[in-house]
Amino acid sequence: MLRRAAVAIGLLAFAVLPAHALTVFACEPEWAALTRALWPQDATLRLHVATHVAQDPHHIEARPALIAQLRSADLAVCTGAGLEAGWLPALQQRAGNARVQDGAPGMFYATTHVPLLDPKPGAGGNPFAGDVHAEGNPHLHADPRRLRTVAQALARTLQAAAPAQAAAIAARADAFDRDWATRTTAWSERAAPLRGAVVAAQHSSFGYLWDWLGLVPVADLEPKPGMAPTPGHLQSLLERLRAAPPMAVVVARHQDPRAGRWLSGQFAQAGTAVPLLVLPATVPDPDAPDALARWFDALLAALLQARSDGATR
Ligand SMILES: [Zn+2]
Repeated sequence: MLRRAAVAIGLLAFAVLPAHALTVFACEPEWAALTRALWPQDATLRLHVATHVAQDPHHIEARPALIAQLRSADLAVCTGAGLEAGWLPALQQRAGNARVQDGAPGMFYATTHVPLLDPKPGAGGNPFAGDVHAEGNPHLHADPRRLRTVAQALARTLQAAAPAQAAAIAARADAFDRDWATRTTAWSERAAPLRGAVVAAQHSSFGYLWDWLGLVPVADLEPKPGMAPTPGHLQSLLERLRAAPPMAVVVARHQDPRAGRWLSGQFAQAGTAVPLLVLPATVPDPDAPDALARWFDALLAALLQARSDGATR
């Protein structure tokens, strides 16, 4: 009698949970958006996003709410290559969730699936010594070609985490792949006027975007990746760039814009328009359909506008 009651209660507990629910912890909004794009629409997904567009993903506080979210996760989807080195290990340790420890099938790092720019194999640098890219540039989501490869890898990981959804995930992944290939070609064609355009940027948040579209990043407002701009460094950049001013100074939305504003202002005083572009370094709205595609659309629109403004000056 007691055993039957226990079984009944057990079944009841299962019935409360939606079938095939998966709980995913995304370190950055782009991975939340990609997970949503690959997950079947009629299956339940609990998606936690640790960061948003106004935050620097290098520097996040390991808050109790994030620990609780990681503790409940079946799968964590993060960038890797040291991007989250300052906070994810603390979350993993405090969450004590074996499913999302490094090396577990539920811990997905995008950077392990594609070659990185500025790779530093085995360097193992110290982020506190001023270089937050100790393993290479981790901001690969700004290259749609690499994103496409990561999408296929993430689809396989989602299938392993939710075998009952494997066929539906495969269909979503195929549809995403076809759509993304078409969009990537269209973006490349649309961005043709940007090829060879020179930019000064703060940090290499958009390094993969420049690489993909053939823009030339001639200056980084940071003296080293992750080190705040200094007056001396900015002054030397200004002197170096005066002879051939860049198309724009590009700062990510989560960064302090003062250094970029100063540099842009110095050119303006000298009679040269070098606009300050403040661009989102990730999707502002990871829950929206087509969030990733709309982000690339917006980045290209802003850069093309700066290009055409520059051409008419
Ligand atoms: Zn970085």
